[in-house]
Order: sequence, then C-alpha cells, then structure tokens
Amino acid sequence: MPETPEELYERAANALRMPPVEEWETFPFEGEMRPRALLPPEDEERPRQGEGGVDCRRCAAADDDYLWTNENWRLWAFDKPTGLPLVVILESREHYGEPGDLPEELAADLGVMLARIERAIRGLGEIGRVHVCRWGDGGEHLHWWFMARPARIPQLIGSFAAIWDDILPPVPEDVWRADLQKLAATLG
Ligand SMILES: [Zn+2]
Repeated sequence: MPETPEELYERAANALRMPPVEEWETFPFEGEMRPRALLPPEDEERPRQGEGGVDCRRCAAADDDYLWTNENWRLWAFDKPTGLPLVVILESREHYGEPGDLPEELAADLGVMLARIERAIRGLGEIGRVHVCRWGDGGEHLHWWFMARPARIPQLIGSFAAIWDDILPPVPEDVWRADLQKLAATLG
C-alpha cells in the first residue's frame, strides 16, 4: 500500500529537489527557479465539478454543443483556438467518473474511439504526435484529451506540450475551424 499523504508530506516537505530544467530542451521557461513549498494534506479530496452527476455541466450540455457525437460518446472543442494545432476532448455520453467504472463493453468501445480519433487528427497533416491524455481532476465526468502537437519542432515534444498550448499564440481561427470540420467529417 502506498504511504499516506501525511507520511509523504513529512518525508518530502523539507527534501524537495530542483531538477536541472535549464538542460531540458522542452522546458518552456527560463530564469531563476525553485520548487514551490509543498503544503500539507487536506482532510478530504476536494470535490470535482459534477460529482456524482449532480449539476454536471457535461451531462447538461446538448448534442448541438459538440463537434461530433454517437450513441456512446461526444467530442467537443473549446470556443477559440489555442496554441497547439488542435485540442479536442472526448466524453462518455453517460456520467462515469473513472475509466475503471466503465462497463466492459463501453471500455472496449472506448479503445476503438481513442484509436479512431487519434488517427483522424493525425490525418490532418503537419501533426507530429497526438497526445491522448486523461487527468480528470477538474470535472468528474469521464473525459480524454487529444492534444496535437506540430511536427518537426523538438522543443514542443512530450508532456510540456500541454503547457506550450498556453504559451504559443492561438492558431489562426479559420485554419482551426477548417481542421475541426475536417475532423468531424472524417469521424462521420
Ligand atoms: Zn456528467
């Protein structure tokens, strides 16, 4: 069993390390840096938006708000482009909290969907990689991120692409909208 949050905090609070970020090609920032102080554990996990399906904004959203839907899944994009070529989010139609909560049949279908959407985004061209990510610490309604990074820019590889998305200026809106439309058309 992993150590308790209290044990981790006791052991780590005064022993934080500063990795050599200045040597990392993909690290988005420069200048003097130090780790932020680690705060002690709270008594309980903070609730997520839509916990237990109550007042869940994703359950309440209409199909019209989505880029693409089918009987099990719905795919959406933000209102405006961000720094990476394309970022879209896949959600289960019904409210589930964790991947492990999915019934087997839906979990199997999820695998098909992750592959289909990744392939469709990669097919837009000039995409170096489509990162398929699940964090789930904000809203409870099960969702997966697809973050497409551009090809041939080594600084933008890896997990910092999620940070670079906020640093790079937004993609031109007409380019972004055309790519979203093409993605929806490919998914059918
Ligand atoms: Zn929901």
